[in-house]
Amino acid sequence: MSTIAERLNEAQARIDAAAARAGRSDAITLLAVSKTKPAEMIRDAYLAGARDFGENYLQEGLDKIQQLKTLDIRWHFIGPLQSNKTRSVAEHFDWIHSVDRLKIAQRLSEQRPSGMAPLNVCIQVNISGEQSKSGVGPDALTELAAQIAGLPGLRLRGLMAIPAPEADEARQHQALAEMKQLFDALKAEHPGLDTLSMGMSGDLEAAVAEGSTMVRIGTAIFGTRK
Ligand SMILES: *Cc1c(COP(=O)(O)O)cnc(C)c1O
Repeated sequence: MSTIAERLNEAQARIDAAAARAGRSDAITLLAVSKTKPAEMIRDAYLAGARDFGENYLQEGLDKIQQLKTLDIRWHFIGPLQSNKTRSVAEHFDWIHSVDRLKIAQRLSEQRPSGMAPLNVCIQVNISGEQSKSGVGPDALTELAAQIAGLPGLRLRGLMAIPAPEADEARQHQALAEMKQLFDALKAEHPGLDTLSMGMSGDLEAAVAEGSTMVRIGTAIFGTRK
């Protein structure tokens, strides 16, 4: 079995190869998604060079942040968040990728401690129009972004999507390309945006080809989850 360091290197090589094929030389961040995996595996990935880690479940994420507080890690919250749980994210994370309504954003802004840098925010977009999925619809994105951009405790960085799984490659690319269009249109209004968070273990090549600047990779680094 290969080590975490080897799998991290392989994931990075996949990103680099996809970027080269797309003629891209801009930075693409590897976000290591460590949900359900123990702190020791995060430490291994950290020692191999990873600095950004993503967690989906709040209590589990908080426990790992506490266990690994001596490491210089940027912690990203990427899961669904209930409005009564915002305070812990505001106080302990550096990023949240899953904001999809104003109420959550307002609470995060109010609860962000004044001594900390603003919380980095990506708005989650329901790009495949799935009824069961989180995310704002593309139609409501412009208004939500304008509201979030005005909140002092937050820094709007960009957009996040989890497209519906597609066996067909052309359709896989289509949703990702739509996200890139939404991102570029929004960036024209908010020039500070720099993050398009899309691509996972199974579709990172397609996501990089379509303009992702941050890929969220779990399984390919840490192995399958139960
Ligand atoms: C679990 C998860 C990932 C990682 O998915 P893999 O297929 O394991 O790479 C990425 N993004 C989100 C939002 C997730 O919940």
